[in-house]
Amino acid sequence: AQVNRGWRVQFNNAIGPYKGGLRFDPGLTESVLKFLGFEQCFKNALTGLPIGGAKGGANFDPKGRSDDEIMRFCQALMNQLVHYIGPNRDIPAGDIGVGQREIGYLFGQYRTLTREFVGALTGKGVSFGGSELRTEATGYGVLYFVKDMLDRAGGDVDGQRIAISGAGNVALHAAEKAIALGARVVTLSDSGGTMHDADGLEQEQLETVKRMKQDRGCRIEQVAEEVGWDYRKGETPWSAECDIALPCATQNELDSDDAKALIDNGCRLVAEGANMPCTADAVDRFQDKGVLYAPGKAANAGGVAVSGLERAQNAQHLVWTRNRVDDELQKIMRDIHDRCERHGGNGDGRPVNYRRGANIAGFEKLADAMIAQGVL
Ligand code: NDP
Repeated sequence: AQVNRGWRVQFNNAIGPYKGGLRFDPGLTESVLKFLGFEQCFKNALTGLPIGGAKGGANFDPKGRSDDEIMRFCQALMNQLVHYIGPNRDIPAGDIGVGQREIGYLFGQYRTLTREFVGALTGKGVSFGGSELRTEATGYGVLYFVKDMLDRAGGDVDGQRIAISGAGNVALHAAEKAIALGARVVTLSDSGGTMHDADGLEQEQLETVKRMKQDRGCRIEQVAEEVGWDYRKGETPWSAECDIALPCATQNELDSDDAKALIDNGCRLVAEGANMPCTADAVDRFQDKGVLYAPGKAANAGGVAVSGLERAQNAQHLVWTRNRVDDELQKIMRDIHDRCERHGGNGDGRPVNYRRGANIAGFEKLADAMIAQGVL
């Protein structure tokens, strides 16, 4: 028999039930989930929705597994997780290695075990309680946030060269919205290497990438060959010339040397699609050189925000249209931007310190709620 370890770190539920993703990754440890859960509390507070913070997952490697094997693992995990989650207690969603297929299997087992059809998970298929736009929300939200940053700084997404890392849910939907807004996406990557083209990705090529990655699980090396792009084995995107960098793969994927290379190559804005992809040294370097920098807890909050909207729809027994969810998402990203500006702006037209603004705004809300509820 194969044995894997699963975790759920329930960090804080002072402003709402625990909420945060589940990750399947063979290298996963409890300490990774603790820092992700900690960050999630402030991110969720920043969205303005009533949701607390948690994170979970298992050290299961989904790569190369059949559908049946994935299903059986999800069922085994839910047999344990069922005791800790629920629509008013803790509502997990997807993350690295956990997409709509996995959430479907987890939800099916939850429903079987509890004999209740309730919104105990988000990221479900749209035909059984999932929200329109949940799949796209994190990547789209990153671009909405970048647009707000550029609006504030007097710029525009149109015509910008954008380096994106990763080729998963967040990266591909960030690329899709970037193209729709007129930008040139010059890189995508995975843990094997980076594909690069200075002219940028066409919408048609993006469809090919999505098909190859999502339906067939291809590597970026194969994708690069198919669309006729350069492939740089073992390299990250951070040596490419670009105006904007969007790290959308995983934690600590962009260090201080990468930050220097980006700055030398003309990068003026960095927004985190992934959770904590930039090391602390890299962030210091960006801020020293006046590069606009948005932390993940602000820039990638669109995913959990639409998860919050999915929970609201489930509780109302209603389904909102795609346009309505998109409008709400844009409004939430703008509100997060404004909160960051309020706490991280200098009031004198100088660039906003988004790191400071996001930390203070998230912390204040949570701390106030905890103090008001007394010592427990
Ligand atoms: P996916 O599993 O869909 O995609 C992850 C991508 O990152 C894959 O292309 C993967 O490549 C790549 N990757 C993973 N590890 C590495 C590595 N060490 N070096 C280079 N590339 C790597 O995950 P998501 O897109 O959902 O998540 C990406 C990030 O965004 C994570 O940090 C996640 O926590 C964060 N996030 C996700 C949200 C969501 O809604 N899904 C919400 C908010 C944040 P490979 O196939 O080679 O492993």
